[in-house]
Amino acid sequence: MTQKVTLPLTGGCQCGALRYRVTSPPVMSYACHCTNCQCISGSAFGLVAGIKEGSLEFTTGKPERVTWQSDAGNERYGSYCVACGCRIAHGQTPSIGLLSLRAGTLDDRSWIVPAGHTWTRSAQPWFQFEDDAILWKEQPTDYVPIIQRFQASVTFEGGPQADAE
Ligand SMILES: [Zn+2]
Ligand SMILES: [Zn+2]
Repeated sequence: MTQKVTLPLTGGCQCGALRYRVTSPPVMSYACHCTNCQCISGSAFGLVAGIKEGSLEFTTGKPERVTWQSDAGNERYGSYCVACGCRIAHGQTPSIGLLSLRAGTLDDRSWIVPAGHTWTRSAQPWFQFEDDAILWKEQPTDYVPIIQRFQASVTFEGGPQADAE
């Protein structure tokens, strides 16, 4: 089933001091089961929408930044609300051109279905993967299958198309 989603996407932090919009179609979605995402989300995994770095605009408030080293050894940073602590997006230094939007901060997150699962080596033992799930034990070395599955499942309207570059 292909879902239709209207751009720009909008979202914000838990308290509303930060509001944002995403002006171009996300590239992919996935569930990250790494130990950092488990801790940051306070849950079993992080639900991520991979978005182009320039497509995220804060329309209310200014995020603070925290940095850490990822399970893959990369230098990562997170943009968060200084009032409520809610994490909005993660990026990497040096930039890879993409941000990992914490998809649960979208106003409408009903259409975000993980197209793949990363860092399954630290997934919780009770988590049930779909039979045809795309699984990576650690950091993917090839995101193309995840990107293709995501882009086959969602159509974006009201903004530039995903292949418009
Ligand atoms: Zn907040
Ligand atoms: Zn993670």
